[in-house]
Amino acid sequence: MERFVYADNAATTKISQPVLEAMLPYLTEEYGNPSSLYRFGNITKRAVEKARQEVAEVLGADPFEIIFTGCGTEADNWVKEIMRSLQKKGKNHFITSVVEHHALLHSAQRLEKEGFEVTYIPVDKDGQIDPEDIRKAIRPETGLVSIMFANNEIGTIYPIKEIGAICHEAGVLFHTDAVQAAGHVKINVKEMNIDMLSLSAHKFHGPKGVGAFYCRRGIPLTNIIDGGAQERGKRAGTENVAGIVGLATALSIANKEMEETTKRVTAMRNKLIDGILSTIPQCRLNGSRENRLAGNCNISFLGIEGESLLLRLDLAGIAASSGSACASSSLDPSHVLLAIGLPHEVAHGSVRLSLSDFNTDEDVDYILEKLPDIVSTLRAMSPMWEAMQKGEVSYDI
Ligand SMILES: *Cc1c(COP(=O)(O)O)cnc(C)c1O
Repeated sequence: MERFVYADNAATTKISQPVLEAMLPYLTEEYGNPSSLYRFGNITKRAVEKARQEVAEVLGADPFEIIFTGCGTEADNWVKEIMRSLQKKGKNHFITSVVEHHALLHSAQRLEKEGFEVTYIPVDKDGQIDPEDIRKAIRPETGLVSIMFANNEIGTIYPIKEIGAICHEAGVLFHTDAVQAAGHVKINVKEMNIDMLSLSAHKFHGPKGVGAFYCRRGIPLTNIIDGGAQERGKRAGTENVAGIVGLATALSIANKEMEETTKRVTAMRNKLIDGILSTIPQCRLNGSRENRLAGNCNISFLGIEGESLLLRLDLAGIAASSGSACASSSLDPSHVLLAIGLPHEVAHGSVRLSLSDFNTDEDVDYILEKLPDIVSTLRAMSPMWEAMQKGEVSYDI
């Protein structure tokens, strides 16, 4: 039988068995409406509140500060609402980075269209942010800084605690898109000076279509969805009870097993990176080796197109991605790879292989067995590779 290796865990993960089992009762017998007053509804209400408590506990927050959302993208969009309410206090300036997920970047662009000023903090060749750049960008009219916890394309982990401290010194609110980090990296919102945070269940073996927004007590938040009293009236609508239970269960499990998982996944990832770099000439690892998510491996293969590489990998039963899932249907090279200084042609030849604790050493061996042949086949028919061999073009990598 043909092997299937799922190496796109940064796009989404498989739901785990314990998570599914925790959810099932709320998709079957326990269908009461949490807002109903009889005991049957009370069961689901208690499940939602227990989930809220679990999420708060993992993040070092208060249950009051957790609002369940429809996804990570939605949570990121809420930052816009906070910025809009800060504008009434004369805060018209928003700071974010050039490497954010589109949920944040497109929100920032929307704010610009509405007349806000936005500063995009650049990154170095590893994709890292210098917190001092944020200090320098803060002005009296800055309302909010939003910097992602970890990058979804190149895996770079940002100095969130330090950035948060700089924001707080200046009296500026700090949000972090922790969708890639939650369940993978230890997070404590109080210790790390985080005022707002977004996370999403399907990035840590939870279900799709449910996320959470942590919003520190005292931050004025206008209602995002008007209606009933759910989520303190901020986001009305009958709760996705099973999804919320799944999110909390997945987050708790990920948090409990984090140390062990990180160790195992990092070892597999290192084997993958070292295996690729040592067997395939003319390729480069994107993103920092050290400050890196355990499962992330992002490689540029000179002389070929990432898309053709993905198709060949798919034929070999390997699911990978070029950049982010949301951007891969467009033909523009990844904004993250361009931001770290890669030329368009090099950015185009990049592939992200992202592992999770569901992967095995055999998966890594299989990728390492297939990849070198696929790359040389594609290079053999690539005009760009040919031009490189003749010395007509060259790239400094
Ligand atoms: C996946 C992802 C999102 C979007 O989360 P969804 O739940 O899929 O909407 C936002 N930010 C980052 C960094 C992500 O990786």
